[in-house]
Amino acid sequence: MRNEARPDAEHQIMSTDCLPTQSPPVGWLPPGKAAAVCFSIDDVHPGKSTDAYEAGGDLDRGQLRHVEWLLDRHPALRVTLFVCADWREISPVPTRKTLARIPYLRDRILLAKTLPTGTMRLSRHLEFVRYLKTLDRAEIGLHGLHHVNFGLHPSVEFRDKTLAECNHALQEILSIFDEAELSYVRGMNPPGWDLSDELAQAMFQAGLKFVISARDIITPISKFAVTNMSGLRGASLIYPTPILGGRLLHFTSNFQATSEIDRAWNIIEQGGLLAIKAHIVKNAVGHVALDGLDLLYRNYLDALFAMLEDTYGDSLWWTSMGEISDRCMNSPKSFKAANSET
Ligand SMILES: [Zn+2]
Repeated sequence: MRNEARPDAEHQIMSTDCLPTQSPPVGWLPPGKAAAVCFSIDDVHPGKSTDAYEAGGDLDRGQLRHVEWLLDRHPALRVTLFVCADWREISPVPTRKTLARIPYLRDRILLAKTLPTGTMRLSRHLEFVRYLKTLDRAEIGLHGLHHVNFGLHPSVEFRDKTLAECNHALQEILSIFDEAELSYVRGMNPPGWDLSDELAQAMFQAGLKFVISARDIITPISKFAVTNMSGLRGASLIYPTPILGGRLLHFTSNFQATSEIDRAWNIIEQGGLLAIKAHIVKNAVGHVALDGLDLLYRNYLDALFAMLEDTYGDSLWWTSMGEISDRCMNSPKSFKAANSET
């Protein structure tokens, strides 16, 4: 399995479209819209406050109440919830410290205690699934099968996986969503922002249309700025961009709780996509996420959204990654052909 040939050069993730010398992609915005905003949340799964941490399982009494509150107050706002099919992670960092020091071995074992397979399988938590379906203007995206991996980076599920392993995991994910009768949009945010050529190819083969595999909340905003922080480097910082020869649409997460409000303004002024990210879990067994959803972040977003509504009115496209992907990837003449090499 490990000797499996890598996909050929035709399948390299990045194309010249993503380089800073290229013009911003054309045709991704609907007529009359000058810029766009979307909001997405990672790590959603049925974990309750009686588990290691709550990640949506307490329904409207838990973290998702913040999402409901924001959706209520901002009628144009949409949200993409990236949901894990069968979450197994407990600690986001290795806890088996001695084993973590042993080269070779540490890359072949789980370095933290994990939940048994099936514990958080969506089809075993139908009340959670039913609740997700009640959320207006919320779409469901994919966020891995188990959210665990061997080695020093337990969350980065697809790292070092072969094409066959990626294919298998994606088929498992899709069958769990089907089994739970939970509809989803055709995109994934791979855990840890990690997108290999193998995973990109497997996503395409599984019928997925978009991926979010870069986070950059540091690089200054400009039309030609490219990503240089977490995950994929060299992708457009503020525009949805075709990758893998136009087979997948790539989004960059470019704003979070710790970002200054000017960053949002600059993205909008450049006609870009303000892609706001949150994590559903604020405190994972003592590890506090800076972009974890809480009252403070919720209130910051409430103020930001109100200012955007007042300033830009109808010229701003309040959208979702699924909707942008549908628009761009289903209209080859108006978008793909103009922005892809193939
Ligand atoms: Zn995650």
